[in-house]
Amino acid sequence: MTAPLLAVDDVHVRFAVGGWLQALVQPGRPRSIEAVAGVSFAIARAEIFALIGESGSGKSTLARAVNGLVKPSAGRITFAGRDITGRSDAAMRPVRQAMAMMFQDPVGSLSPRLKVRSLLAEPFRIAGRTGRLEDEVQRLLALVGLPVEFADRYPHQLSGGQARRVGVARALALEPQLVIADEPTAGLDVSVQGEVLNLLRDLQQRLGISILIITHNLSVVRHIAERMAIMYLGRFVEVGETEAVFANPRHPYTLSLLSATPEPDPDAVADRIELAGEIPSLLRRPKGCELHTRCPFAQDRCAREVPPVMADPDGRRFTCHYPR
Ligand code: ATP
Ligand code: MG
Repeated sequence: MTAPLLAVDDVHVRFAVGGWLQALVQPGRPRSIEAVAGVSFAIARAEIFALIGESGSGKSTLARAVNGLVKPSAGRITFAGRDITGRSDAAMRPVRQAMAMMFQDPVGSLSPRLKVRSLLAEPFRIAGRTGRLEDEVQRLLALVGLPVEFADRYPHQLSGGQARRVGVARALALEPQLVIADEPTAGLDVSVQGEVLNLLRDLQQRLGISILIITHNLSVVRHIAERMAIMYLGRFVEVGETEAVFANPRHPYTLSLLSATPEPDPDAVADRIELAGEIPSLLRRPKGCELHTRCPFAQDRCAREVPPVMADPDGRRFTCHYPR
């Protein structure tokens, strides 16, 4: 295998929680949480890799660590052959041109007082380009399938899908090698979601870029990603080729997520399962297998022993004592 574009190696991200007052009132309470707790994966050039998991599972934090917006407390991140772990903002600047981030809520992240023209020129200006950028603006509008007249619109004059296209155009402005798209279709009508995804996939194929896509939506994953990782409490519980994971989920958590998606084919998920209770607080991680408090297949051992990382011959990895 050729060297991956991005390699994430046992990355941890810790956040301090509560101040001194809380420490005084609840002395036994942990002072920090581990939002990302030892994650490893790699993304090849021109590959689409999806990250899924419930709210709070650490998806955005992992993306922000990759982009250098939060510092990992441990682990290593390599991008295009360079170790970029813990780089300063200034040292990250050239890397961020090659690694564009589409933040969660792209409509909200478009400054309401700027016309689309200025929004599309902004990445070039930040990178230090001066002078007329009209050609670049028109090129970007064409790239994402928006008419040239849209350069004169303000964000509030755009539909959700059009705003998303502007977000995609901004991300692609500096010809990145990797685009990190955090929930790029959240809040859109299903038909518009499809349009935005087709656009992303089409651009990925034409430009040969890699995409790290974060989503709650499993049909999005199936539509677009070659490989996927499933996160729970800041760790990957399963990673593998998308089609293989859908066809045969090994981890009970994966199975529960697939069970919860409306499937046109009722036989597609053979044994549907539902997890008990709520996702635990990061302040009180369960011992043993962290899913054992909710897992219908849990045995005594699951409450005591952390499951090892298992690997299928096809390269699938999962952590479970009693895989499906
Ligand atoms: P969602 O699907 O809702 O976007 P997510 O998977 O992206 O969720 P994160 O936003 O990465 O989840 O959050 C993971 C955990 O880290 C949560 O418990 C969150 O409260 C916590 N967290 C995130 N950012 C910070 C921060 N700056 N300080 C303290 N805790 C944080
Ligand atoms: Mg998030």
